[in-house]
Amino acid sequence: MIIILNRDIKAEHKLNITNWLEDKGFKVKEIVGEEETVLGAVGAVAVDPRSVELLEGVKSVIPISKPYKLASRELKKEDTVITVGNVKIGGPRVAVVAGPCAVESKEQIMAAAEAVYNAGAVILRGGAFKPRTSPYAFQGHGEKGLKWLKAAGEKYDMPVATEIVSPSHIDIMREYVDIYQIGARNMQNFELLKAVGELGKPVILKRGLSAKIEEWLMAAEYLLAHGTDNVILCERGIRTFESYTRNTLDISAIPIIKKLSHLPIITDPSHGTGLRGKVHPMALAAVAAGTDGLMIEVHPKPEEALSDGPQSLYPEQFDKLMKDIEALSPVISKEIERPLRQGFAVHRLSTENMTRADKTEGKLRVAYQGEPGAYSENAAGRHFGEQPLEFVPSKSFEAVFDSVLTGSSDYGVIPVENALTGSIHECFDLFLRYPDINIVGEKQIRIRHNLIALPGADISKIKKVYSHPQGLMQCERFLDGLDVERIPYYDTAGSCSLVAQKNSSEIAAIAGVHAASYYGLEILKEGIETNPSNFTRFFIIARCEHPEPEQVDKATVVFSVPDKKGSLVSVLQVMNENGLNMKKLESRPIHGKPWEYMFYSDIELPARDDFLSEGINQLKKVCEDFRLLGIYKAGI
Ligand code: PEP
Ligand code: MN
Repeated sequence: MIIILNRDIKAEHKLNITNWLEDKGFKVKEIVGEEETVLGAVGAVAVDPRSVELLEGVKSVIPISKPYKLASRELKKEDTVITVGNVKIGGPRVAVVAGPCAVESKEQIMAAAEAVYNAGAVILRGGAFKPRTSPYAFQGHGEKGLKWLKAAGEKYDMPVATEIVSPSHIDIMREYVDIYQIGARNMQNFELLKAVGELGKPVILKRGLSAKIEEWLMAAEYLLAHGTDNVILCERGIRTFESYTRNTLDISAIPIIKKLSHLPIITDPSHGTGLRGKVHPMALAAVAAGTDGLMIEVHPKPEEALSDGPQSLYPEQFDKLMKDIEALSPVISKEIERPLRQGFAVHRLSTENMTRADKTEGKLRVAYQGEPGAYSENAAGRHFGEQPLEFVPSKSFEAVFDSVLTGSSDYGVIPVENALTGSIHECFDLFLRYPDINIVGEKQIRIRHNLIALPGADISKIKKVYSHPQGLMQCERFLDGLDVERIPYYDTAGSCSLVAQKNSSEIAAIAGVHAASYYGLEILKEGIETNPSNFTRFFIIARCEHPEPEQVDKATVVFSVPDKKGSLVSVLQVMNENGLNMKKLESRPIHGKPWEYMFYSDIELPARDDFLSEGINQLKKVCEDFRLLGIYKAGI
């Protein structure tokens, strides 16, 4: 039965009701919905609902008409959203689980993980214990396979799902598995359901080969009644008289389950059809029917697969499928599940891409974008002061991140905001692609632009002026007074290098004093920027942990909030309650989620050291995605 509680019920009354029901032999679950809080009471006992209605704090009692109680929509009106690591399943999203049928070798699962991850899958699958129709077929690598699967999941930051076939495997599996899968052949293995339910971990429950929807929901009820709240149903096709396909994928089960249950349902068109060529259209059909996710078998070399090769997609096919799902999802008000940092190919540190052999002894290597003499180089010099430095000029901002990630440089210095022209979005976006790189410092420098040319050049003879577009824009008024062509160039210091190379007295550059002296040029006119309050903020980035809170007073975070009323206000409230002074809040479009935004915020930290543990935990709860980009000492 469902016991609807009064909105203002006191905690002691709620406890009384729970105790009363448990004494009678019920299992009680509290469900906090948007509209109301209810208690679900299930068990093989009967009481007169009127005796429950008389308990203090009870608004009403409704019997659950279905045989499955905890799984039923009657008990819980809102969709259940299951969180595994940084992935969510359920609600307005399509989460994609992908990987090979079986883990065959370390190389195979790594290659599969890389492919599915880059295409946008969020959970890695792979069987280590395979229930095969023939006792002579490959049965999986057992614990060795689990180890490889977990290593691949860790490398690509994806939770892993794998099938459990016997309660006796729980002890081996526990340390490797994020999501247990109960296979179609075991859907009604009740001892297995009970044992897995008791683990309290997320479970993917496949529909049995010939299970009716109600039997499937009853199997889910076993899991829920034994301790887990996190059951994901998986439609994977049923046996029918049709033999063209391996199974008949029951797409109609998707809207039916949505009506009957609050649990998320994902769809497996790989087993559902058994035919590689039919996976793509059926996956799209499932999305159109409202599936909360897909489970797709992908193999780096399907023709060599030890199991289910004929239904496994090639990585390129999976990539194409992901793009189509992304385009289709908004039609049914869903979007593909993508944790924040996964908007694009993510660059992670691995032992293979560590290069430190060329390190210059005793000097800190600092990468920046641009040519020698760039403002970034100046900012780096000012930040690191007396320390011996070796600068690493880099072609692009991305190259700076790469240099830091691979260990070629100890630090990077990147411009993030100009006081006149605003944020340099490209640099912010790069943090999402480099989750191992954090902000460790900040420096602000005043930008003083100069007109620079060959020694002895005459300002009245200058015909062309080169600079970065921002440099040209910031000196607009000065340039208006000259009869010159303005030529945008990739970099301010680079434009000095060009003037030196061309060796012509008819061209000039706009750049800082350092660039002029580096290239042996002369300053024709100093301080030509229109607005003298021209400052640029730089972040110092590194591949390291966040420092101890005592030495820092500022943080930069990036977060997204659920698409519902008041969600940004909740974030601001947490900041306020924790005494955090928000210095800046800026929204950026989320790549891959049209018209959705993430927020970058700079926060002044209070003189307390519990921000990391307390404040951040609270922020994570109210945000959909949250990342601390860095805590550092505010730079001047
Ligand atoms: C699997 O997912 O590899 C599998 C064996 O699935 P099912 O239990 O649906 O046959
Ligand atoms: Mn399979």
